[in-house]
Amino acid sequence: MPAEKRRVSGYDKPARMRPVSMFKSGPTRTAVEIRGIEVVQCVQDFANSVDLIAGKATIARLYVDPVSVDRAGEITGEIAWSRGGAETYLPSMNTVRIDPGKPIEIGRQRTDVNASLNFRLPCQAVAAGPLRLRLSRLFQPGGGNLPIGAPKPVDVSFRTGPPLRIRVIGLRYNNGEAAISPAAIHFAFLKSFLLRAYPIASIEWSQIVVDADFRAPLNESTADLANAQLAALRSREVSSGIDPRTHYFGLVDDDGSRNFMRGKAFTIPGTPQPDVVASGPAGVPKGLAGDRDASYADWYGAHELGHTFGRYHPGFPPGQQDASDANFPYENGCISPPDGMFAGLDVGDSALNLAMVALGGTEHHDVMTYADDQWLSPYTYKAILDRLIAEDAL
Ligand SMILES: [Zn+2]
Repeated sequence: MPAEKRRVSGYDKPARMRPVSMFKSGPTRTAVEIRGIEVVQCVQDFANSVDLIAGKATIARLYVDPVSVDRAGEITGEIAWSRGGAETYLPSMNTVRIDPGKPIEIGRQRTDVNASLNFRLPCQAVAAGPLRLRLSRLFQPGGGNLPIGAPKPVDVSFRTGPPLRIRVIGLRYNNGEAAISPAAIHFAFLKSFLLRAYPIASIEWSQIVVDADFRAPLNESTADLANAQLAALRSREVSSGIDPRTHYFGLVDDDGSRNFMRGKAFTIPGTPQPDVVASGPAGVPKGLAGDRDASYADWYGAHELGHTFGRYHPGFPPGQQDASDANFPYENGCISPPDGMFAGLDVGDSALNLAMVALGGTEHHDVMTYADDQWLSPYTYKAILDRLIAEDAL
């Protein structure tokens, strides 16, 4: 800590004589404060109240209080995790630029993945049971340690959860010229989204493409035909040995936007009923619902599957969606109350070119709405978890 050692030598003047900028030339003199550590898999609040699923990809986000740092610069760090025994040290995935002159508020830190130090917890750390995390070290890359005092540890707990069992059926139809079936990328996006956003650590997935019982043009009754075909297929396959807790989902390609099948679940079961089937469209979103990646089959499918887990519509946007879920707790179909209590985190998927991103709780909407920028609210997350557990016991 050069600034702490106020050497008085022939080369150095006493520190009190130095101009302020020189005085602050060392890293910092007083302990850097942290605002908290958030342990997030899909969506979380600052108290870590959202259930954590054992084995699911987990990021610990540590927020440095910028005003406790003496001067602007890059900071990185290390946490220590323990499960009742010895501590294991884990370096952060990134560095953050901290500027006490531009003190970023915690709400904005939480909605920017580059504003927190992020730690990808290893699988031993996210097994079922309690986990303690504490900040063990902050430092400037290539430089010395910053004083951190003795920050309070954060305790969380991981619970076991059942897998999602799903069989996705691509329904190949004739558009008058050619057979149209969903490209592999749409299956991949749906599978990845469910793993990232649903309250699951694993997925029992299978997929096939079969000839559809319908042909173009697709219309309002297409999803009914698709679901009838799926129900018949499911019934045959379950009698020949498929796990009866498997959800069947039909994927119908939109033929380059020429043939869009509106998605639909057969019904919305009030009790655990994995035999309820659903179907949805697949295609390139081109901005549909704020989506600009390679497929909208992901969140669209997660919505229709949500119905098969008993989820209704929050009623947003008003006039565009029925408000069949009277209990949806957040305003405007968001994933958080207006104070931004909850923030989402999408861990991303490098295989699909999807970066890890923080999802502001008041800018993102629950997957059961018809609004843009969808993710799972804590309400939907918990409800689907409870239903998965109930179905698992069938
Ligand atoms: Zn719906």
